[in-house]
Amino acid sequence: MITTTTARRIIEEKIPAPGTESVPLTESSGRILAREIKAPFPMPRFTNSAMDGFAVRAVDTADATNDSPVRLALVGSVPAGSPAEFTIETGACAQCMTGAPLPVGADAVVMVENTSGFKAGKEVAIFKPVTAGQNVRRQGEEIRAGERLLLPGQKIGPAEMGVMATFGIGSVPVYRQPRITLYATGDELVEPGQPLKPGKIYNSNLYLLADLIRKVGAKVALQAVIRDDPTELKSFLTGALETSDIIISSGGISMGKYDYVRRVLLDLEVEQHFWKVAQKPGKPLFFGTAGETLIFGLPGNPISLFIGFMEYIWPTIEQGMGARTGDLIEATLTETFPREPKKVRFLFGKARIENGKIYCAPAAKRGSHMLTSALEANCILRAEPGDSPLQPGDTVFIRLLPWKTIKSCS
Ligand code: AMP
Ligand code: MG
Repeated sequence: MITTTTARRIIEEKIPAPGTESVPLTESSGRILAREIKAPFPMPRFTNSAMDGFAVRAVDTADATNDSPVRLALVGSVPAGSPAEFTIETGACAQCMTGAPLPVGADAVVMVENTSGFKAGKEVAIFKPVTAGQNVRRQGEEIRAGERLLLPGQKIGPAEMGVMATFGIGSVPVYRQPRITLYATGDELVEPGQPLKPGKIYNSNLYLLADLIRKVGAKVALQAVIRDDPTELKSFLTGALETSDIIISSGGISMGKYDYVRRVLLDLEVEQHFWKVAQKPGKPLFFGTAGETLIFGLPGNPISLFIGFMEYIWPTIEQGMGARTGDLIEATLTETFPREPKKVRFLFGKARIENGKIYCAPAAKRGSHMLTSALEANCILRAEPGDSPLQPGDTVFIRLLPWKTIKSCS
């Protein structure tokens, strides 16, 4: 049996460096950027109006008041999307809509509300002065050409997609997603929606795992339920080993008479790196490799499987895609927390922020078969080995579930 830290280190050392590929911008959501992206041009690209109004020379408006407006000659109109083909001379102005290029000669925009309006005519009355630069978005004031926009390792979300679109980037360099095979083992398993005979249970783990794979941003290449039958298992795994970067199983990895997963993997010359980790729940945890393929065997109890995935496989997939996993966070317990003399104890729980401090409590249901204990949870609590339970007020480390939020209730 090895420690959780050693297990993480052994896995980390076996994760191959991520490959890269280019995907269309529209398909890049959730992917991890593989290269730095620099601004190909300044933003704003050209100096433009921040208001619907009139482009002017600011000095011409210095004396404008409501009672005694300044009158300027109207020389044209610039809608957004068209360049101005005239120059603003002293005493002149032009209609200029938000986002439209500022005509040469103008250095400010008077908002339409402070003028006689967009009426046809030769003159416009200006009721309020503007200073040079007012209501103008200067070329390059947000970003200069060549400035860094995005770093490799960043996850692409709405802001990143919007910024890449702003700069006309239609093809995005991202890290490849590992091809993942998921399989559940067990003669007792029945698919949801089917009738349940005595002694059978519904297969929950494959659904849970498949959604975790979607959440971490990878893709399930192959998914199956395999009977507790070494021949069936062997033929399935032979194929999966050829086509997968990561293989993850549910069940059949402990000491039971029908637990064939490990035996079949060893038969197929998978190299075992460990099989048992000093933790509760989820001690029987298999990790092996075959070439560059990583093979994980998770125990079948749903909470053991869920926690095993979050502690070992989630970070593996993130690293394998060029991303970084969030650190553990310190939190203060509000309830007692069981400890094990020689094992790390994990439990799902709920964390909240109160007066700027993070507090957490473990779920009330603590059995590794009690999947409903994960329903309310937003984190996994972790206690190092110890002889007595932790008490309210003690510190524990928590791992926030990345798809959940932590609420503030102060
Ligand atoms: P095992 O690790 O195969 O010994 O299974 C441990 C426990 O988890 C048993 O009670 C199984 O019935 C249960 N179990 C195994 N696989 C699944 C699954 N896919 N969905 C729900 N429970 C499962
Ligand atoms: Mg089983």
